[in-house]
Amino acid sequence: MKEIESAREVLSLTRDTRCRAKSSGFVPTMGYLHAGHGKLIETARDENHLVVVSIYVNPAQFGPNEDLDRYPRDLEHDREMCLTAGVDALFVPSDETMYPGGYLNQTVWVDPGTLASQLCGAARPGHFRGVATVVAKLFNLAQPDRAYFGQKDAQQAIIVRKMTEDLAMPVEIRVVDTVREPDGLALSSRNVYLSSEERHEATALYRALQLARAEFESGKHEVEYLVDTARHCVKRGAPNGKVEYVSLVDLKTLQPIHGQVNGESLLALAVHFGRTRLIDNVTLTS
Ligand code: AMP
Repeated sequence: MKEIESAREVLSLTRDTRCRAKSSGFVPTMGYLHAGHGKLIETARDENHLVVVSIYVNPAQFGPNEDLDRYPRDLEHDREMCLTAGVDALFVPSDETMYPGGYLNQTVWVDPGTLASQLCGAARPGHFRGVATVVAKLFNLAQPDRAYFGQKDAQQAIIVRKMTEDLAMPVEIRVVDTVREPDGLALSSRNVYLSSEERHEATALYRALQLARAEFESGKHEVEYLVDTARHCVKRGAPNGKVEYVSLVDLKTLQPIHGQVNGESLLALAVHFGRTRLIDNVTLTS
């Protein structure tokens, strides 16, 4: 496995792959890898000749009061996991490589428009602009044929896919199902911050989504009812959690649905346990 830090090196690898008409799959991450990332890597491995994983904690997607400084890191563990998973190249760029002159000097940004107005974007202004911009840069450097994203961060995957369509980027976006703990909690690098009590309560997130989905499947399609059902389930099961949002939105536009669910929709939620913010979602199709 190659380990690459500079833009020049990653470009020469991707150009060489292109020249040899080999397909490349790209998995962008912020590191502290777990089995969720592992599933993305495994899918990329199955579908491409070359697999590149990037690890970069992107300062531009963290708000001033968020956890950029305490975001968990363990490059040694990540390196080992990538090696075992058959990754060809691990791209670990410096801030200078990604934002020459510092990200505060970045002038041109990718604006995700109304796709960022709801769900996580509502409480994290600028977050998805930072995500879309860094993903665009990484795509320019890694020049992948396919890029792999997790359904856990559904809004991110939808924004990235729309970015590639609207900006004519020749990258196929593949979305991989959420990997969960046996008790349903979605794997997340941030789960390490949870106390054992919070960890126990955090199982209420997926239980709430499943309960609402079961109600939906039994014929209850009223948005208000489904959102309330999920919200109450979280409140009951996670008294130490603070609900940021429980929302039902259209799966394409990510705008709120009113009245009845009709077509493909996303039921998503975000809950804070102290300074730790967890998200999860399910899709509902009528
Ligand atoms: P992160 O390192 O948290 O930025 O995540 C990198 C990629 O892994 C993103 O596309 C995430 O959606 C994806 N990912 C994170 N957690 C999971 C999970 N539990 N299951 C599947 N994919 C995940």
